[in-house]
Amino acid sequence: MEIIKFPNLLPIMMDYEEWLKSKDLEYREGILYMAGVNTVDIAEKYGTPIYVINEDLIRKRYKTLKKELDSVYKNNQIHFAVKANSNLSVLKILKSQGAYFDCSSTGEIYACFKAGISSEKIIYTGNMFTNEDFKFAVENDILVNLDSISQLKRLSKVYEDLGKEKNLISFRINPEFGAGHHSHTITAGKDIKFGILDNQVIEAYSKAREYGFKKFGTHIHVGSGILDPNDFDKASEKYLTIVMKLADTLDIKFDFVDFGGGLGIPYRPKEVPLDLEEYKKVVIKRFKDLIEKVDMDQVDFKIEPGRYITAEASIILTQINTIKDNGYKLFAGVDAGFNTLIRPTMYGSYHHIIVCKKNSKEKTQKYDVVGPICESGDVFGKDRELPELFEGDYLAILDAGAYGFTMSSPYNSRPRPAEVLLNDQKSYLIRKAETFDDLLSHQEIPDHLK
Ligand SMILES: *Cc1c(COP(=O)(O)O)cnc(C)c1O
Repeated sequence: MEIIKFPNLLPIMMDYEEWLKSKDLEYREGILYMAGVNTVDIAEKYGTPIYVINEDLIRKRYKTLKKELDSVYKNNQIHFAVKANSNLSVLKILKSQGAYFDCSSTGEIYACFKAGISSEKIIYTGNMFTNEDFKFAVENDILVNLDSISQLKRLSKVYEDLGKEKNLISFRINPEFGAGHHSHTITAGKDIKFGILDNQVIEAYSKAREYGFKKFGTHIHVGSGILDPNDFDKASEKYLTIVMKLADTLDIKFDFVDFGGGLGIPYRPKEVPLDLEEYKKVVIKRFKDLIEKVDMDQVDFKIEPGRYITAEASIILTQINTIKDNGYKLFAGVDAGFNTLIRPTMYGSYHHIIVCKKNSKEKTQKYDVVGPICESGDVFGKDRELPELFEGDYLAILDAGAYGFTMSSPYNSRPRPAEVLLNDQKSYLIRKAETFDDLLSHQEIPDHLK
């Protein structure tokens, strides 16, 4: 099922300890520490399951990426993809770093406002927009990144009805080359719902001009979890050809060119991270060379990483309640389930699982690590080689900081767990666990059932 390629896995492999260390995880006297904090203490203090987030690592990932982009081309903005992690503290951390934001819904824009982020830092890349979505965006001076030519007319009318001046507009372009860790996360290609195809771009931008828009940007986002810079290479080459065609044919001076997100992370042990040098070469350097050649300076370069910035900064701590040997297989049953982290069930994704406390036993065994949800797909990992496990032990599920909490659900009427932030060796509760009453609070009973 997984179609991710690992071309950069061999011949260089990272040492396992080094790989853990790159996620700010290490064992000290047999205990797993994250950001210098004892994970067993966290599990005992707050209960399990729980999402634990490392503030420092979020800052570090942002800063690394920013520095790399700055080294090539100064007019760049990194828009954090809010759908990866929309916790207000996470948004505030990135805001304080100077990040920009990419929102896929008005709810995410609302969360950004609550985190004190201002309109001009936000791009709204929705799809299948309603008129209410447009109204919210226009009222709040949010740049809309359109997904269909048909939406222009409706958006235009919203501007006119609200008496707002039409200024900057952008379209998501589908370069017909996609990539990603799973077919659901490949977001370009002719039979994919996103963006406008090459043969419609001229029409889209000339119509936008007819409707009265004055400034223009372009956008692509070709997929998610990409570790092979070749995938970015092909997409960005095609994309820039389209952008140049537009600029030439319609004599447009673009305000920005947005390359989307999709930067992958090393989920598997020893896997090496995305080669940022290569990424820079095929994306920002190519962009810079081109705009210099055609004398098109002052264009902003944008990217929209989500996973790259927050995924590795969070783990889920979970407690084993049941060790079950059914005669064929050993199961380690934990208190987190696909309600807590759906990626393994939904995409067949790999998340590494480790013990929070090593025991003195040498022997390892193969376990299926499973959750408590009443579905057989509630599996975090099959045949995982782990030290002998016991009921009551704590496990850590790694790389849960992107598409973890944001894709969680209260399925099986299980309240969502709390979120804790680690900073400077201290822990802060940044979201309380939900209660049973939270789950029921919106329900109303009609009179005849009272
Ligand atoms: C999901 C998404 C992103 C972020 O993707 P990552 O793989 O997390 O980097 C960026 N831009 C758009 C438009 C998206 O839909």
